[in-house]
Amino acid sequence: MISTKALSGVYNFHSTDSALIQMFPLRSHDTCAVRPQSRRASGYRCESTSNVLTIAAKANCFNCITVKWSPVVQPLADKRAVLLIVDGMADRPLIDHDYKTPLEFANTPNMDRLAKGGLVGQLDPISPGIRAGSDVASLALLGYDPAKYYTGRGALEALGAGIELRPGDVAFRCNFATVDDDFRVEDRRAGRIRKGTSKLAKVVDAIKIDSVPGIRTIFKATVDHRAVLVLRGEKLSRMVSDVDPKEEGAKIAISRALDGSEEAKRTSAAINEFVKRSHEALREHPLNQERANDGERAANIVLTRGAGTIPNLPSFKSMFDLRGCCISGTPMVQGIAMAAGMEVMDVKGATGGIKTDYEAKAKAVIEGSKDKNFVLVHVKAPDIAGHDGDFKGKVRTLEEVDTLVGHIIDEVDIGLNYVALTADHATPVGYGAHTGDPVPVIIGGPDVPASRVLKLSEASAARGNLGRIRGLDLMPIITDLVGRSRLYGS
Ligand code: ZN
Ligand code: ZN
Repeated sequence: MISTKALSGVYNFHSTDSALIQMFPLRSHDTCAVRPQSRRASGYRCESTSNVLTIAAKANCFNCITVKWSPVVQPLADKRAVLLIVDGMADRPLIDHDYKTPLEFANTPNMDRLAKGGLVGQLDPISPGIRAGSDVASLALLGYDPAKYYTGRGALEALGAGIELRPGDVAFRCNFATVDDDFRVEDRRAGRIRKGTSKLAKVVDAIKIDSVPGIRTIFKATVDHRAVLVLRGEKLSRMVSDVDPKEEGAKIAISRALDGSEEAKRTSAAINEFVKRSHEALREHPLNQERANDGERAANIVLTRGAGTIPNLPSFKSMFDLRGCCISGTPMVQGIAMAAGMEVMDVKGATGGIKTDYEAKAKAVIEGSKDKNFVLVHVKAPDIAGHDGDFKGKVRTLEEVDTLVGHIIDEVDIGLNYVALTADHATPVGYGAHTGDPVPVIIGGPDVPASRVLKLSEASAARGNLGRIRGLDLMPIITDLVGRSRLYGS
């Protein structure tokens, strides 16, 4: 429901008033609080026949808005945009759920409202059929070509975890995991351990590498079972393979040099020693004894993957002439934002996990848009439900995201500013992994033709009015709408 606050002010629509109704499906006149005053007595009428509509009133429903037609020339600039990335939102129809996707199943009135009045289309995060990781997809959605700028996920995670990376450092994504005595992986996520990982991280952080001279390790726990490792020292390389075998029941892998260089050989040797040492340090840890007593998986090893070095991104301001800030509990997304020179807001309750505080995030959007004209909001939870193959959980998280969308639409004044919503990739619950499907994209705000799509879904996105775009197209479209884009040619 659009609040009365969101309707005060001046709105310019190059469209007819029926399109306006499409854009703002307000409370029905029957339930409108202003209704006791009759329309005629309050003087609701159009005063001109120009195609630009100006509304200057507070009202609960369209019938109760005082409308006045007058020609207005608008300045191109001074609009804001919020981009909401719903991680892993898109899915595939499921046979045992009436051939519906979680998005089709979910009750999402606010996303539907945004879609109905806005541009709706499909987006290929990288290009059609490419299965994208969240890191490359998020780079692309923010306008950075991953083919040019991607230097591995580990560094993005480490930046986001608050580690000051230096040129030459190599950073890794890590999991606390459970292995048996033969180093066979019983659980890649150590029973999705949530508590006590900072205690475990302390003993891992103290590990010293003996076999390779001149290397220091920095280790930090992040969200749930996840952590980051940084190797610092001379002659290191990110061209090393992962220790994490990425499947349960397999033995841990030995890290190898991918390019045969001396740097890569040194780095892989250091990693192999680090992983072995982590097992020695964690095996006997009191927290693991406690976990064993409670019948939980021991977090008895650290598995590494995704080696990366600090990316050299041109600033977001220089690329799009927008002052950006980022609201996310996910270290990788925070890392990209930092590398792009955006302000990363510290939002209490934005966990990057399955349970996050959507109200706190909504408040942060209001706060962030006070002095920034671009706010990136990222929500991780639907991707987690997708990986877990949890249909109900995904429906629930999408409905929770919908309440966040409602707060955003109400507060950022969508009559003047833009709200875009998309996903970084599909994470179908039937596969528990990312797929290369296109994802829905919506851009709502002033001057955009209404798609009149009634319910946002993977299928309705294909029938929208934006067509099919790529991840890298999104920021130029947003920049153009908010009036910050440079003229090409003269
Ligand atoms: Zn993702
Ligand atoms: Zn994922």
